[in-house]
Parts: sequence; C-alpha cells; structure tokens
Amino acid sequence: MKKYIKNVQLLNEQSELVNTTVTIVEGRITEIGGEQPNVAEIIDGNGNLLAPGFVDVHVHLREPGFEHKETIATGTASAAKGGFTTICAMPNTKPVPDSVENLELINSLIEQSAKVRVLPYGSLTVAQSGDERTDLAALKASGAVAFSDDGVGVQLASTMYEQMQDAAKLDMVVVAHCEDNSLIYDGVMHEGKRNKELGLPGIPSICESVQIARDVLLAEAAGARYHVCHVSTKESVRAVRDAKAAGIRVTAEVCPHHLLLEEMDIPSDDANWKMNPPLRAADDKDSLHAALLDGTIDCIATDHAPHTVEEKCCGMVGAPFGIVGFETAFPLLYTRFVETGKWTLKQLIDWMSVKPAQIFDLPYGTVEVGAAADLVIIDLNKEQTINPDEFATKGRNTPFTGWSAKGWPVLTMVEGNIVYEEAK
Ligand SMILES: [Zn+2]
Repeated sequence: MKKYIKNVQLLNEQSELVNTTVTIVEGRITEIGGEQPNVAEIIDGNGNLLAPGFVDVHVHLREPGFEHKETIATGTASAAKGGFTTICAMPNTKPVPDSVENLELINSLIEQSAKVRVLPYGSLTVAQSGDERTDLAALKASGAVAFSDDGVGVQLASTMYEQMQDAAKLDMVVVAHCEDNSLIYDGVMHEGKRNKELGLPGIPSICESVQIARDVLLAEAAGARYHVCHVSTKESVRAVRDAKAAGIRVTAEVCPHHLLLEEMDIPSDDANWKMNPPLRAADDKDSLHAALLDGTIDCIATDHAPHTVEEKCCGMVGAPFGIVGFETAFPLLYTRFVETGKWTLKQLIDWMSVKPAQIFDLPYGTVEVGAAADLVIIDLNKEQTINPDEFATKGRNTPFTGWSAKGWPVLTMVEGNIVYEEAK
C-alpha cells in the first residue's frame, strides 16, 4: 500500500523549513514533493515538522533478565513515542549477549516484540566481567551493531587493546563506558560541591577521564574505531578533542541530562537524580555544550535506563544508577536550546538522527528518496508538562517531572509503518 504524507515542513539544504509531501512505497521513500497519488493512505501532517526518525546508540531495554524494569515491548513503545526509530541496545541484560547463542536469543525477543528497529550490541567480555574476551567476529556475524561492556568500564588495558585490535580487523566500532573502578570511591553523585552539602559520597571526574585518555591511546595503537559513551567532564572533552586533533578515530556522545542539568540542580537526596556518569559541575556542562558545537562531541544519546519506583524510592545510596530518556529528549533539548537560539533545529536533528547513524554506518537518519521511511512528525508548538505517569516506558525515574516543554512527536513511522500516533 502506498502512503502519502501531505502538509509537512521539511528542512532543506539551506536549513529553511519548506512545506512538502512524502510518498512511501513498501517502506521506502519514493518521492519528496510529489503530487497526491490516486490510491494511497493519506497522512495529514497538519503543517508540522517532518524529521528523520531519531537514532539512539545508547539505550537499556532490560529484557531479557530485568523485565520488572522494562521490556522490549515497553522500551520500544517509549522510543516510538519519543520519535526514535532505531535504537542500539546495551548488553547489560541477563544473559549478556556475549555468545552467538545469547545474541540469537536476544534477536528473537526483538523480533517478537520490538516496535522500532533495535540493534543489539555484543559485549566485549564474557558476562561483562572484564576477564575473558568474547569472539567479536562471531558476534558481528550474528548481527551485533558494535561492541561494548556498557554499564561498567573495561578495567584491564590489555583486554581493551586486544578487543580493539580484533574490532579493527572487522571494521567495527568499540563503544566504551569509561569508568576506572579504583576511582569510584563508592560515590553516588559528582565529587564536587553539592555532594558535600548533601553529605553523599562523590565520584571524581578523573574516574571517567583517565580511562578515556587511556582508551584513545589504545585505539591509536590498535587502529580501532572508538566511540566514547556519555561524556560528562571537561577533562574528558579535552581528551577527546586532543585525540581527534591527533587523527585518532574517536567519536563521542553526550546525554540530554548532562546538557540540561548540573550538580547544583540536585534538590535533595533523591535517586531520580542519580545516574552514571553523574551530573557534573557547571563548567563541565559548559564544556559539553562547546564540544558539541565545535564537533568534539558528535552526537546525542539518551542512555535510557529505566528502574522501578521501589528501586529509586529511598535516597541515592543503594539505588541503581540511571534515568529514563526517550520521551523527554527532543522536547527538552528543542525548548531549552533551539527555541532559545543557542542551537539551530538542523543541528539538533543532526545530533539526534544524522550523526549517530553515520558513526555506526547505519543506512538511517535521513529523509531522502530511496531511504527507509523512518520518520517522525513533531508539533513544535505543542506545549506540555512532563508527567511520568503518562510515560510509555515502565520507568518513572526522571528528574524532569513538572518541566514544561514544546516540540512533541505526534506520529512516528518505521519503514512506513506507524508505530506511534498521538491520541486525538
Ligand atoms: Zn554507561
């Protein structure tokens, strides 16, 4: 069945919004700006923005193993509601996708219940223990999008180096959650000013930055493609910037919460403000903004990390790290940074759709003839207050409750199939 989207605003090469139409046949875009066909399902965009569906290279779906926090069905429903059409699932599940057997199990679960495209990572080490290396070639052959032990840092340099060498042979990206276990100090938030006021143990910035500094040198020696997860400190930014200047094949992501919040925003010992890496200082946040604008940081990823209300109920110590992210990412970033003139709309869409697809060689994140019809229609004027009780994710763990934002997705489509539509 042909689909025809009429009356949508699309950014052109000059970053101007132009009213256009999109024709879709068998899940692919066949024409932009064409006349209405005689026989087609018509979708009226009502003059709203049409953007390539967002691509999130860092998400936690919790299934298999932690279905009380999230399932592939609820996580992907949340992604669809947030305008995401392709998401890359981190390997800290039970079992870990550290073998062909386990990755195939995860692929079959995705096949059964995913509403958007889910591309699973393969782990770098068996059970993410940091010890025994996984067979990267076999994991690639079974559909791993890239390799990561996200959730924990790879502690041994030799393990990281050897896996980078193998990944380089496969031309695959190694994706790193950088955290030196000897520098965590049982911290639950940033080691700075606010943790002392609240009397909570802090995680120093070096916990992250020293491992990035190590890894970029390992990537250089291995000739590997290396992607840094959730950069949060100014020293990390400097390490990535220096590495890029040296010609090392490094890319980096930043999370919405690290761009929107800083340690002093944390109101109390409330675990809905606990994530890893933690909210850092104001000058760290400023350096993340500068790094996005100068290209040191390449893209935005949510690190969507649902947990139960019970797990997050009782203060930071003892609560797991992480906050949900899919359904608030675009509206918050659009409202705070595009509406205020700090960023252009084109930059935001580049960071959420175009760049993440490019880093991982994914044929998504664009609106062009021949491309998969992975699209999101967004009402930039719709204003709404964030209420976790309305989330599609099982998670309610967000620090953004009560924030007002504009720019809400009204329709999301994956390969021409509508996977989310705003209730009328
Ligand atoms: Zn992580």
